[in-house]
Parts: sequence; C-alpha cells; structure tokens
Amino acid sequence: MQYVDEYRDTRLARGLLADLARKVTRPWVLMEICGGQTHTLMRYGIDDLLPSQIELVHGPGCPVCVTSLETIDKAHHLASQPNVTLVSYGDMLRVPGSHTDLLQVKAGGGDVRVAYSPMEALKVARALPERQVVFLGIGFETTAPANAMTVWQAKRQGLKNFSMLVSHVLVPPAIRMLLRSPHNRVQGFIAPGHVCTVMGYWQYELLSREFRVPIVVGGFEPVDLLEAISMLVAQLETGRAEVENQYVRSVTRNGNSRAQEIMREVFEVCDRKWRGIGLIPQSGLRLRPEYAAYDAEKVFQLLDMTVEEPAECTSAEVLQGLKKPTECPAFGKACTPETPLGAPMVSAEGACSAYYRYRRHATVDK
Ligand code: SF4
Repeated sequence: MQYVDEYRDTRLARGLLADLARKVTRPWVLMEICGGQTHTLMRYGIDDLLPSQIELVHGPGCPVCVTSLETIDKAHHLASQPNVTLVSYGDMLRVPGSHTDLLQVKAGGGDVRVAYSPMEALKVARALPERQVVFLGIGFETTAPANAMTVWQAKRQGLKNFSMLVSHVLVPPAIRMLLRSPHNRVQGFIAPGHVCTVMGYWQYELLSREFRVPIVVGGFEPVDLLEAISMLVAQLETGRAEVENQYVRSVTRNGNSRAQEIMREVFEVCDRKWRGIGLIPQSGLRLRPEYAAYDAEKVFQLLDMTVEEPAECTSAEVLQGLKKPTECPAFGKACTPETPLGAPMVSAEGACSAYYRYRRHATVDK
C-alpha cells in the first residue's frame, strides 16, 4: 500500500507535465469518466497546467447527477407517505426533483434519514418494525456490491419492512453510447479506478477494440491523473488503441470476484434512463425476481412515469462532454450550489459544482 502523499507530489507532477509537453504534437480531446476525477482536476488546476493541445471534457460519472428525475420523484413520493421512513445518502437530499427535494419533504414532516452505508437502513428497519423502511440505492458498480449485500441480508434475516428503490447504472454502456454518438469528440478515456476495482477492466478491452479508442484506468490523485493523461497521449501519438492500467495499486484485470458474485446473486442487467441523457440500453441493474419482496417499486406499486427535465438545465450536454458547465447560460446565475437547477450543481461529484467550487466561474458575469 502506497502513501497518498506520493500521488500529490509537486516534483513528480512537474516531471509528468514536462514529459507531456515533449510528447504531444497535435490536439487531443480526452474525457475523465468519474466525477471524483473531475473534482481533482479542477481542485488542483490540472486542466490549466496541461499543454494547450490537450482538451479535457468531463463525463457522466457522477451517480447523483445521472439518477433519473423519475427515480428522484419516486423517492419524494415514498418519503411523503405517513408510514414510510426513507433512508438515503446525504448528497441526495438537495437534488431537485420536478417539484421539490428531500430536504423540503423532510421539513414538511416526511421521515427522511441520512446514512453512510445501506446496512444502516437495515438497523433502522429492525428498530422500527411498525414502519416501512426504504433505502434509496443508487450509484455505479462501486456501490452495487454493498447494496446487493444489504438486500441479501434483509432476505436472510426475514425482514418484512425493508425495501430498496434501486437505480444503479453501469459505466461501459455509457461509454458505448458516447462513442456511438455522431457528436462525439472524445479520442481517449480515463476509466474510473473505483469501478474497475470492483469490475476489473476486461469489459473496457471490448470497447477499445470495437471503437479503436485508447482507455486508461486512472486513479483519483493529481499524479494518478497526470500519469493517465500521459499514457493516453502516448497511445494517441503512436496510433495505438489499448486498455492500460495506471491504477495498479487497486485494479486488476478481473476485479473483485466476491463483490461481482453478490451483485450477480441479487441484481440483473436492465435498460436504464439516465438523467439528462435518456434511456441507455442494458446500462442499469435492478433486483432479480427472487428479491421482488425487497423491491420498493413493486412493494409500493410505483407506476412508470415520464418527467420532463427543466428546459434551462443543459446537463445533458455537460454530462456527455459536449459543453463545459460555464457554457450553460444558467451557470453561476440562476444555478448555484445554493439554488441548484440541476443535479450536477448539487452533488460533490458534479462537474458544475466542481467548476463553481474551484472558481472556474470567475469569468462569468454576475
Ligand atoms: S449549471 Fe446548473 S442549469 Fe446549467 S447544466 Fe449545470 S446544473 Fe444544469
């Protein structure tokens, strides 16, 4: 296990920047998928330090940002029921639905509780047997094993008052959607290190071969990201298109087989709607029929609904790397972290929030 300081070392970072400047001969557009990586890039000003030929665009890897408006509205509906306790991660509380957010539902008397792990929701369910306890289970492959384990435990313990509102999403189908788009400008991807820690990177080899695109699995510290960018540029400049692993201290080709096992036991792949983007085939996970008694959509007979996105929020283009947050007319004006119009301004991993927090809004007229 390495110390994190090494990955924030200024001397190493300068060396990688100098190496990049020597390597790059023409313009390249690169995308980091994960919102955590976006925040590191903004926080350390890495985008400003790169050679001018390298343009970074930001991908759809913020779990809060891509959770569909319909799922958020369903959570609001459940939290408003008198016999329901809704348990959620804290960053979901301020995500705007079509009418309200969970904080306002809570202020209006809804029983909404914040948890740091889904297992806490099981404790709440055991402590409140007279109430129905629902956990809002969202996120990428990273959080899926813990959510799967929670449902598996609920079944094993015979809990009758626990269910999960599941809206999991998968990274490889989203990359495929981006690469198939006629508007795509991305020539190389930094794949998310935490997702690949769970799932490995063999699925990305299929994408790399199919679309002849270089993909580097990257970590989350400044040196990790500079190294991943350097590896991508080396491939692009020499005409290679392969999957390489920068995040070797955490990621293997096949990932964590135990975590994948529990995911397969509890979840199955399904089509999923992504907020701002729309339906991406085979890009989600839902509970298997054997776990229907723990599926909040079935327990509460939540009907399919279609909700329109607010017209002023251009998060669809932001999440696909087609626009920078500062190109959204609402950025820093109608939309700020205090008055968010869209999820990318709420979440700690959202690109709009990263641009705002790290002062990329300094040039925006107020
Ligand atoms: S700045 Fe606000 S309104 Fe614009 S895309 Fe981001 S979240 Fe949506």
